[in-house]
Amino acid sequence: MTRIIDGNEVADGIRSELESCVETLESAGVTPGLATVLMSDDGASETYVSMKQRACAELGIESVHAELDPTEPTDVLLERIDDLNADPAVHGILVQLPLPDHIDDRAVLERIEPTKDVDGFHPENAGLLVAGEPRFKPCTPHGIQRLLAAADVDTEGKDAVVVGRSNIVGKPMANLLIQKADGGNATTTVCHSRTADLGEKTRQADVVIAAAGYPELIDGSMIGEGATVIDVGVNRVEADTEKGYELVGDVEFESAKAKADAITPVPGGVGPMTIAMLLYNTVKAASIQADVPVSLP
Ligand code: NAD
Repeated sequence: MTRIIDGNEVADGIRSELESCVETLESAGVTPGLATVLMSDDGASETYVSMKQRACAELGIESVHAELDPTEPTDVLLERIDDLNADPAVHGILVQLPLPDHIDDRAVLERIEPTKDVDGFHPENAGLLVAGEPRFKPCTPHGIQRLLAAADVDTEGKDAVVVGRSNIVGKPMANLLIQKADGGNATTTVCHSRTADLGEKTRQADVVIAAAGYPELIDGSMIGEGATVIDVGVNRVEADTEKGYELVGDVEFESAKAKADAITPVPGGVGPMTIAMLLYNTVKAASIQADVPVSLP
């Protein structure tokens, strides 16, 4: 029987463990605060931001919301980030991606004060991760690491294949998997859009992490018997539903499930973990900035 890895259940566990960290901070007079920055009319981005705000409220994290007109220039966004950097009530800053095409993404991510960079995308935090001394692990790869641990999948000595080389998912995921640390020690291959024979690579993997953003790119014929499959993809495809679309992953679930020992569904796999690890990083940021130690889960 293939195990379905339940991201909602694992995320709930992390959230409830974070409650005592928030209580510790509160008793020291510190309310963790997260600023969400939205510069988009895109419905999916708006939904993601409101899910993050709701998750903050449930845990007792204060959220501040900055909304900018998507036609504003980069400078206006940078000024808003400067304000949030200077605000002592804001411990974490999250800029919802993607930003409009005319915005200089790198300049924006580099402007965030590194100790408030709860997404972990600032070059200082990316560098710390590569050096094996992570401050804020990027939320999605960190969430995947926790999912694997919760499903008793030990990555040590295993062959892992990460499909996708983005700065947000693929690269930090590979960096976590190669660390000489718990949840790491995997022999890791990173595949991307120029990989010659993707199926040949994924079939040999004990752990496949699919983050290509391409609907059902990986089917059962590309999965080795007994592998663990983590599907990061969230793709809208046209469908005869009320909304006119449905969400599918990067993995063709049924055929991959027939081969895998364990697999994550979409939705309900990686997504809830991304939010849980954002809460984790915000609590960690508050603890660092207020110099109040907490026992993070
Ligand atoms: P991206 O577009 O920045 O990167 C996609 C990567 O996939 C690229 O590096 C590209 O080289 C690679 N790729 C594309 N087509 C490929 C192919 N045919 N074969 C092999 N590699 C290929 O995307 P991203 O931001 O890394 O996100 C990837 C997916 O994960 C998207 O569907 C996104 O919506 C989803 N996502 C989900 C969460 C979550 O919390 N569930 C979080 C972040 C991203």
